[in-house]
Amino acid sequence: MIYFDNAATTRIKKEILDSFYSLNSKYFANPSAIHHLGIEASNIENKAREQISSFFHATPNEIIFTSGATESNNLAIKGTAFFYKNRGKHLITTKVEHPSVINAFKQLEEFGFEVTYLPINKDGVIEIDSLKNAIRDDTILVSIMTVNNEIGSINDIESIGKLLKKYPKIIFHTDATQAIGKIDINYDDVDLLSMSAHKIHGFKGSGMLLKRGNISLMPLNSGGGQEFNFRSGTNNFPIEVSLAKTIRLAFENLKNNYIYVKKLHDLLVEGLNKIEGVRINSPINSSPYIINFIVPKKASVIQEALSRVEIYVSTKSSCSSKKDTYSYVLYELGRSEVEASDSIRVSINEENTLEEVNLFLKELEKVLKEIK
Ligand code: PMP
Repeated sequence: MIYFDNAATTRIKKEILDSFYSLNSKYFANPSAIHHLGIEASNIENKAREQISSFFHATPNEIIFTSGATESNNLAIKGTAFFYKNRGKHLITTKVEHPSVINAFKQLEEFGFEVTYLPINKDGVIEIDSLKNAIRDDTILVSIMTVNNEIGSINDIESIGKLLKKYPKIIFHTDATQAIGKIDINYDDVDLLSMSAHKIHGFKGSGMLLKRGNISLMPLNSGGGQEFNFRSGTNNFPIEVSLAKTIRLAFENLKNNYIYVKKLHDLLVEGLNKIEGVRINSPINSSPYIINFIVPKKASVIQEALSRVEIYVSTKSSCSSKKDTYSYVLYELGRSEVEASDSIRVSINEENTLEEVNLFLKELEKVLKEIK
């Protein structure tokens, strides 16, 4: 089996599962309870919060545990818009965000907010000048993803953060789901950051929103006031402690993993470039973890054929030319509707091997010859 769909989700690490199991058996009390068992759980939870915050030059009360990036994005975007609506009604994002960002903005438009969707350039990133030009006196939020989940392009979050510091009324959010633990980026000038644990060998349904202390949000969950009032609901304490371990392991291995994955990436790209009709979509200088390419046949048929030999990749369905069946990200990158349909995303990580890369290239060539 060759698993090349790590941007969708990853295999959970055994050591993370093991610690989850032992935490669940030993500390099952509610960390909000004020009896001894609850306090014990709460102390461990606080240590987890502290550990996570240390990787972001943050303080423990700046970490809000959530069910993952979808929830974090919704809380960051809608929470900011509604809390600061009296400051202004203008919001800025990009045309190629994950649906959990784009659709949150679409929903805000129904509530009277005005949204500017920035285009991407040929490198798959936004131009700083186009951001500068979009800023208005009533802009209150800018949300720009760190790494694009379909093509791997990396926005210059550090420069964007520096620019936005000159606008004290604007809050800067980044969806860093495909970057955390993979790409070395400084988030010091980011106000809000979303991530999911399962992209880096943690649990599905687990993640966090980093929220700097000087920022407030309108909570989306009303309730008992957990997570500093920003996300009510009984804390899933063993999952939160597991998240700290997930993040720690990813950050500790980030540099070595990057070097290894880059080697696999380069070999993959070299091999793909030799196959007739294949064209790489991922811009150069993108995340080595994601390689997107056009295939000269129907991508869904290729995906299925590869799946039959236990090679797992992902694609957008190409069954028709309806708008929502081709990749809007590839379309924004300048690809035609057909090209944006007939593309495949391979997403690798440090668990993959050189043998897998070679076998994949061989199988892909074979499948391309076989399919009419
Ligand atoms: N943002 C990005 C960039 C993603 O890749 C994903 C996962 N596909 C999400 C947000 C949503 O993550 P989750 O499904 O874990 O909530």
